[in-house]
Amino acid sequence: MFGVVPKSLWSRKAPADEANRIRLAFNCYLIRTGDHTILVETGLGDKRNARDRERMRVPLATDPLPEVVARHGIDPESIDIVINSHLHWDHCCGNTVMQAGRAVATFPRARYFASRPEWEHAHERLVRDSVAYLDENYDPLVESGQMTLVPGDHAVAPGVWMRHAAGHNRDMMVITAESRGQTFCFLSDLVPTAAHLQPSWVAAFDLYPLETIENKNRWLARAVEDDWICGFGHDPEIDFARVTKDPKTVFSLSPAAGPRPASPAATME
Ligand SMILES: [Zn+2]
Repeated sequence: MFGVVPKSLWSRKAPADEANRIRLAFNCYLIRTGDHTILVETGLGDKRNARDRERMRVPLATDPLPEVVARHGIDPESIDIVINSHLHWDHCCGNTVMQAGRAVATFPRARYFASRPEWEHAHERLVRDSVAYLDENYDPLVESGQMTLVPGDHAVAPGVWMRHAAGHNRDMMVITAESRGQTFCFLSDLVPTAAHLQPSWVAAFDLYPLETIENKNRWLARAVEDDWICGFGHDPEIDFARVTKDPKTVFSLSPAAGPRPASPAATME
């Protein structure tokens, strides 16, 4: 998760277990616009086998995402838009569920959105990252017409945008939602945890680390300037936070906002 950063440094922020694993979350975010209920990312899902789950030390079965949504007081049937920042399995495995050996939409009423160049890349099956893609998470939705593949920056609803931010891979998108002068930004794997705010702390699996650094500098500078609420998709403690400039690490969590600023109901792991 921390690439060339020495363990002596990163382990202070993310303690590792005996197998060198650290705690990570599959955070999904829910945006309500009044007209739309929008789910950003769908997490771990039901398609990883027992061996993978043991290796990742996650429970043998994942609670179905609609149940998790309902637990937060939100009718899962009301979800009419699902956005995937990119198509790595850990961001979209909950898009579909297996029924009688077939993958079908978890949210049948929803229109799903993902990046077309990312979808094309997923099908290239490159040695470097093919392990990150499971076609059952998106192809059945593309075939049924439920998934819209967008060529680049795209407004999925008024004030809610998918915006290109390369680095983690070529076509990953961050998601922004603006309302009454406030902006929420889901940074996805551009800044997977708050420990990755320091621009040079880049994960080893990022395909374009120099672009990660460049885009972190660009996006986090805007986040500081306009006092955005940022979402960290893999942080097990900090789902939302504001960020600030830091003389030592360039960016850090804003102490004023606290680790969990008031964002009711919409937090899931
Ligand atoms: Zn990820």
